[in-house]
Amino acid sequence: MWDSLAAVAALSAAGALALAFHRYRAAQFSLLLTLIAAALAAGGAREIVAALRFGPLLLLVCAAMPEPRLLSRRHAALLAAILMVVGPLMLAPERLFDALADAAAFPLGGQAPRVSAFVFVFAASMVCLGRWVWRGQPIELGLSLALMPASAAVGRGDAAGGLFLISGLAIVLAVLYASYRMAFIDPLTGLPNRRALDETLARLSGPFSLAMIDIDHFKAFNDRFGHDAGDTVLREVAERLRRHAGGEVYRYGGEEFCAVYPRTPLRQALIRLEATRRAVEQARVRVPAPGARRRRGGSAEPKMLEVPVTISAGCADRGASRRGVAEVLKLADQNLYRAKQKGRNQVVGR
Ligand code: GH3
Ligand code: MG
Ligand code: MG
Repeated sequence: MWDSLAAVAALSAAGALALAFHRYRAAQFSLLLTLIAAALAAGGAREIVAALRFGPLLLLVCAAMPEPRLLSRRHAALLAAILMVVGPLMLAPERLFDALADAAAFPLGGQAPRVSAFVFVFAASMVCLGRWVWRGQPIELGLSLALMPASAAVGRGDAAGGLFLISGLAIVLAVLYASYRMAFIDPLTGLPNRRALDETLARLSGPFSLAMIDIDHFKAFNDRFGHDAGDTVLREVAERLRRHAGGEVYRYGGEEFCAVYPRTPLRQALIRLEATRRAVEQARVRVPAPGARRRRGGSAEPKMLEVPVTISAGCADRGASRRGVAEVLKLADQNLYRAKQKGRNQVVGR
């Protein structure tokens, strides 16, 4: 009894949180799971059939839909279907109710309601897992994990309250984690963003080095190959930085990155930066040839070019005079400017 109440409370809270953070898929899952958990806990014969036959089907439909705008037409239809199950359908004549409940279990109509309910909720979990794998949306992994205990809850008769409670908590965590990523991770490169850098810099103490890194002639590259090719370069450079720069790498903004080296002397940071500069110089980025994007129809692959990209970097450390973070950052920026003036594709630090 108490576990069912706790489950309904956690799932409702998850729904409210998801709604407040504009995670409408998570909100819909929470609403459906709240209704299923409440109906199973209520224990009436018709409520149980509705929870096991209609609820899982609606969960699967919800899993297959894209992340909606609030009340897009498709999602208004889903909400209307949910309201139908909660309202008029519960009062429908018995034969109509049973016929619709059997239809909702199609193609598992011959199976016991708990079996079909388990299969549908588990399938919904797998759909979310697939979206995480193929589209890389982290919240989908959280939703997939959240649906697994729910599938066990509808499949077994006992311990349902505790399992739904875990689902509710998992949705809360998924929504919070997705919001954290949205605030602190740059979606294009996957690197932590400027906001994350500001927090790191505010916490820096003791000796450290900082580097500002900038892609050379990036505007000309964008103008020649297009913005999409420019984005490919940003991702490639970010990957080389992640692999070779050591320290903590952030996307500062535009085509500029910042590397933070806590407890690292300038000499050591410069070695890592030089290795990164070389790795970027040696790599070739594959982009469509200019004009290839405009080609329409036909099965011919667009012609691809392998183009060189270079970076310049300026580095500075705290020094014996124990400079403040802002001053070190300014010095690093001045050194970056020097690297550009000296002809680019080089690292300057002193
Ligand atoms: P320099 O070698 O002196 O650094 O020259 P630059 O052309 O790289 O420098 P500039 O600051 O003139 O140009 C930066 C360009 O970066 C301008 C803008 O079009 C491009 N840019 C900034 N953010 C993005 C982005 O997210 N994607 C793409 N594709 N381009 C971006
Ligand atoms: Mg720049
Ligand atoms: Mg640049």
